[in-house]
Amino acid sequence: MAENYRAVNYKAELVGVLGYPVAENPTGVMQEAAFRAAGLNWRYMTIQVKPDDLADAIQGVRAFGMRGINLTIPHKVEVMQYLDEIAPDAEKIGAVNTVRRVGDHLIGENTDGKGFLRGLHVDAHFDPAGKRVVILGAGGASRAVSTELALAGAAELIVVNRTLLRGEEMVGDVRYRTGVAISLVPWKEMYVVPPDVDLLVNATSIGLYPNVDAMPDVSLEHAKADLLVCDVVFNPVETRFLQAARERGLRTLDGLSMLVYQGVIAFELWTGRDAPEAIMKAALREALGVE
Ligand code: NDP
Repeated sequence: MAENYRAVNYKAELVGVLGYPVAENPTGVMQEAAFRAAGLNWRYMTIQVKPDDLADAIQGVRAFGMRGINLTIPHKVEVMQYLDEIAPDAEKIGAVNTVRRVGDHLIGENTDGKGFLRGLHVDAHFDPAGKRVVILGAGGASRAVSTELALAGAAELIVVNRTLLRGEEMVGDVRYRTGVAISLVPWKEMYVVPPDVDLLVNATSIGLYPNVDAMPDVSLEHAKADLLVCDVVFNPVETRFLQAARERGLRTLDGLSMLVYQGVIAFELWTGRDAPEAIMKAALREALGVE
């Protein structure tokens, strides 16, 4: 009898994403691929949670003993009031996209901007320290990217936004919380990228499916030859904006890079292990139909 006994554990560790709507969020595909590759009995669940149900959902995260959770639209700001602790850079960004559990504590993190930075380093071999950057947009993605660029030592940030008030609030917050030199350009007409800019980031939703023919009203005529042009939009991965930049001979970095690395960093925070980056990237490319 004794030699037939095996210690078994049928209990999976749980993580996932809460959003509304959430059905088209592809993160689960890459996290599940990563767990399989790492031999971890973990599950990533894609869960639709209406705004009014968020407090209960976070109670559920606690009750289920979940190891962590991602937050997507519209929960990234609202969730902060239900957590026990907020990491310093998530506090500066003013939003949380990843929660990790330490003991009974739920800690809010933000891996969006950090994911963008890791993609800059790994995929584009670009160090933002001392660089001049133009960021299009002043929404959540722009706040995350701008804050992390500031914390990484960017010399100057120029934010270009259509709605003046939103732009002013964002620029004021990032300046106050990071001390970076940051200014706002109201986006009323075509924005001409100055020749001394090193990095240009589309952090708006312009070009996002189904408006795939749209592109930011920007002129690259005077851009310098080694300007790096990035897009946070990942659906489609190949945006018209990036195509136009490449047609001018400029280097580009797509939104898939940011998406992969925000997930890579979340995997590392949750599991304490190095993430199988290549497997996560391949799984996401396949899910998004990229050749
Ligand atoms: P928000 O709604 O918070 O902000 C949208 C921004 O885009 C605003 O600054 C808005 O300007 C601007 N904008 C939208 N349409 C136009 C337009 N027609 N002309 C000028 N400006 C426009 O969205 P998020 O910041 O949360 O998301 C932005 C994009 O980033 C989305 O496509 C999202 O999928 C992507 N994203 C990608 C991630 C990744 O990992 N790759 C992670 C997170 C987000 P205004 O203030 O004037 O309205």
